[in-house]
Amino acid sequence: MKYVFGPLSSKRLGQSLGVDLFPTKSCTWNCLYCQLGKTRRFVTERQEFFPREEILFEIREALTVNKGLDWITFVGSGETTLYRGLGWLITEVKKLTSIPVAVITNGSLLYLPEVRKELLQADAVLPSLNAGTEALHVQICRPAEGLTFKQHVEGLVAFRNEYKKQLWIEVMLLGGMNDSDEALRDLAAVLKKINPDMVHIVLPTRPAPDQEIHLPSEGRIERAIAILSEVTTVVHPLKGNMDLRSAPDLLEAVTAIVSRHPVQQRELQKAMVDRFPGDDNKASEIMQEMLATGRFKLVEHNGEPYWVMVQGNTAIPEQGGLSRELPPLKK
Ligand code: SF4
Repeated sequence: MKYVFGPLSSKRLGQSLGVDLFPTKSCTWNCLYCQLGKTRRFVTERQEFFPREEILFEIREALTVNKGLDWITFVGSGETTLYRGLGWLITEVKKLTSIPVAVITNGSLLYLPEVRKELLQADAVLPSLNAGTEALHVQICRPAEGLTFKQHVEGLVAFRNEYKKQLWIEVMLLGGMNDSDEALRDLAAVLKKINPDMVHIVLPTRPAPDQEIHLPSEGRIERAIAILSEVTTVVHPLKGNMDLRSAPDLLEAVTAIVSRHPVQQRELQKAMVDRFPGDDNKASEIMQEMLATGRFKLVEHNGEPYWVMVQGNTAIPEQGGLSRELPPLKK
């Protein structure tokens, strides 16, 4: 499938079918931690990158083969609200199914009334807020010229005032950048103004092109939860898992996910083992065959092997060497 991928599993959204609306990375920001690589050219004008009917057709097809879904999630290779037909797609998906719809967005275009209006029908919207000051926001998110922190916060506040469903703000917590008490208190003050239903703390656990990104320590994560909990409910999500049990075409399903973000070796192995219960060798055999196609490679990040595409995720660094051999599975 071209637009639909997964389902992926996470603590936040359970079994979620992903819908990607972009041909290549298209974003208003150039975050330090972005798994898609650097934003080579900012996109700030909304466009219909692909015909909306084609995307809807694929969602309809995917719904016939994927049962037990908890969410349909618009997310993918860029800033979701740049897709001009997003509101239409949400409306049409809701005519097809009662499965709730989520939109993951950086929130940078929420200052536009038409974007806020298009998102009103979603059941959950998950915008980003990584800093409580302009300086830190610019340092981490590196927005396109003309997109200010003030505008970002005003967009979030305006959306909250209009949107009565679930507003869950994502905070990417970066070691040594926004995990100090001072940065967290600034963030808490802005979150108080926005008044989201929840804050989800996420961590830079996957490889990104900028080597200066570090995981926060356990102590700083606990501190972030404590400080942000003073103003809202805070969720510290466990890592999600991939579910390949009902994928009609295994290679296509894995390609659809790995081309959008690196996948930890142990996560892929577990999904394969779940797909072939009682046949432990089968998972390893298939993964070896996949590496032999030359479309995938393994790179190391924080001591963990990850699967990336040989072409596609071109900005993903090859830290610790490139391999076509499967490392032993860590339990
Ligand atoms: S908003 Fe998302 S897609 Fe855009 S640069 Fe940041 S992490 Fe990457």
